[in-house]
Order: sequence, then structure tokens, then C-alpha cells
Amino acid sequence: MLVDSHCHLDFPELSGRLDEVLASMQANGVCHALCVCVALDGFDRVLQIARSDPRLSASVGVHPDSPDALEPDVETLVRLASDPKVVAIGETGLDYYRTEGDTEWQRERFRVHIRAARAAGKPLIVHTRSASADTIRLLREERADEAGGVLHCFTEDWDTARAGLDLGFYVSFSGIVTFRNAQPLREVAVRIPDDRLLIETDSPYLAPVPRRGKTNEPAWVLHVAECLAQLRGTPVEAIAERTTENFFRLFRDARRETDARD
Ligand SMILES: [Zn+2]
Ligand SMILES: [Zn+2]
Repeated sequence: MLVDSHCHLDFPELSGRLDEVLASMQANGVCHALCVCVALDGFDRVLQIARSDPRLSASVGVHPDSPDALEPDVETLVRLASDPKVVAIGETGLDYYRTEGDTEWQRERFRVHIRAARAAGKPLIVHTRSASADTIRLLREERADEAGGVLHCFTEDWDTARAGLDLGFYVSFSGIVTFRNAQPLREVAVRIPDDRLLIETDSPYLAPVPRRGKTNEPAWVLHVAECLAQLRGTPVEAIAERTTENFFRLFRDARRETDARD
């Protein structure tokens, strides 16, 4: 059984066809998907979706790409994270690729999330793009190792992965690892220890080969697993087992549905 550790089922591309998305998960052996929040004003919708099915869970956080988003504080994040369906804080982090000018607000927002994760005792979902040195620095300064978490949709180099692993973090790969031009990323992916590896879709974006250009969905995490299996010279079942085990170890509040066929 597979788990999609990061998706956005509340986004308009997917929110209108949840039944279909869940059926497709079932058909592809995907037993769970984590619905990741990107803005406080979207949290209720994410929570509502997660509550609609036992195979879904939720996070709470504000994405670094939205300068005008309602700014979270530690108390609010901790309060919202107390819902039993909420298993993580995020997504949060730094994205200098899509931001122009002063980025101090991003670092401050990231610090707030790390403090909230420590206070709530829940792991962090970290987004980092063109900002790896500051991401690692802030994780260290704010003692994020006490909360743990994942570097999601990982596209950085081995040194960044290594620094994340040293902080006790997991590293999650999306469909990007299947892209033709992603050879350097594949070289990083083979080096991640078995017990720190996660997989995700980041759907509706980043549909993996052989679905490129389509609206991505949690079922297609299977293609990410297949790619990693090939890279690491191991059966896809072993990747599925490892990454699923890792998911429920990291996101310990996520409920594992026991499937009748198990
Ligand atoms: Zn992200
Ligand atoms: Zn995301």
C-alpha cells in the first residue's frame, strides 16, 4: 500500500471530483493522502475534505509564496492543529524563486511555524526553493529537530538533503524525480536512507511521467514509487512498504486504515 504524503485536494482542479480521486487511489493501492493547507482562510475547506474520508488527513499552515496571506501566529496554528484530523504544521518554508524584493517576512513566517510545530508536538512540512542555506539555518536556529518533519517536493542538492537528514528530517520526492532533465535529483534520491524516504504528488501539479501535463492526483504517487524502485534497484512493493511505514512513523497522528485485503 502507498501513501501520498502531500497533495492539495482543496484546489479547484481536484475539489469537484473527490469521489473519483478516492476511487482512483483505491484502484492504485494508495491507502492514505495528506491534504496540505496553504492559507489560513483555506484551512476549513482542507479540514472538511480530510474529515470526509478516513483515508485523508490534514495539515495547517501558510505557504511562503503568498505575501498577502493572513499572517499566522503561534497560538492560532497550535489551536487549529489540535483537531484530531490535523497531523502536521505546514506547508511552510522559504521560496526565493517566486519572491522579489525583501524576503524577511518569509523568514519570520517560517520561524512562527517552527515554533508552533514544537509547541504542538507535530512535524513540519517544509517547502524550500532557491533558499536552501536559509532554510537549513532557520531549522537549526529554531530547533526544528525537536518537532521533526519533511523536506517536501525535494529538488535541492545532496548537501541540503544531508543537512535535513542530520536534523532528523525525512526527504520527500514528487513527480519531478521522473522528469527527463532530473538526473541530478535522481542521484540524490538514491542516497536517501530507506528509513527517511517519502513520496508525494503535490497534486494537482507536477504530474509524473507518464502522465506529464495532466492534472495530477494522489493515485499517481505510484509512478513516483516506480521511478524510485528502478533507481534504487528494489521492487516497487519494497518502496511502497518503506515509504508507508515512514509516513505513519513521522505523521504519527494519521490514522492507518486497516484494509480488509491485508
Ligand atoms: Zn510546496
Ligand atoms: Zn504543496
